[in-house]
Amino acid sequence: MPYQPMTVAGVEVFPLRDAVGPMGESIRRPLPEMFPGGCHHDGDWVLHFRCYLLRDAAGRTVLVDTGIGADDSPAASWAPVPGELMAELARVGAAPGDVEAVIITHLHSDHAGGAVADGAPAFPNAEYVLQRAEIDTASEAVLGHIVRPLGERIRVVDGDVGLFSGIRVLHTPGHTPGHQIVRVGELTLTGDLLLHPSQLADPKVPYLYDDDPELAARTRIEVLDRVRAEGGLIGTAHFPEPFTRLP
Ligand SMILES: [Zn+2]
Ligand SMILES: [Zn+2]
Repeated sequence: MPYQPMTVAGVEVFPLRDAVGPMGESIRRPLPEMFPGGCHHDGDWVLHFRCYLLRDAAGRTVLVDTGIGADDSPAASWAPVPGELMAELARVGAAPGDVEAVIITHLHSDHAGGAVADGAPAFPNAEYVLQRAEIDTASEAVLGHIVRPLGERIRVVDGDVGLFSGIRVLHTPGHTPGHQIVRVGELTLTGDLLLHPSQLADPKVPYLYDDDPELAARTRIEVLDRVRAEGGLIGTAHFPEPFTRLP
């Protein structure tokens, strides 16, 4: 059953299911090690890998994250490749060439892996929006796989920036130095600001693979406070359901 879309502030929001599965053995750890103090049961963590398509009333489209990519993606070492983003886009009536902007929340391979296909931009007419801090701190491997093939198509932004139709990106460092989230109307698309529902129950709970766990927790607390004050609706990348209304 596909996810259901919603409309916020005149913008249709389609959650797209790129993949579902556990983390590969190379980086999988028991949940209490992944989320210290948050998860006490060592059950299986089955991640959804999710992107979002935003379409305004004029038909302009923005893709938020590009999923894990093809069989040869850098994500293949730990995520269930290939991703199904392209089929999901077709399901909601969007062709790759229609996408005007691709917002990459951060350069981890499950969010940026589908940005490039066969060494070229997978969305040929799009600008790719990335925070300066994310590019400045990218590893040589990420520069080679993602950043250089995107080349001139990258639009580097700094901090909080509006795109169009009320769609904004906000710099939210911690998980990675240049992590960004997306705001449209009352909805916030959180990328990897939140990985697991235990971090909603207690936003101080760190994630093993946060680049700077303390900064990530401070950012998470700040953002969730603001989101709560503004209606409390989030769209996550890895929770079982796309949309969550904060208590
Ligand atoms: Zn990440
Ligand atoms: Zn992720």
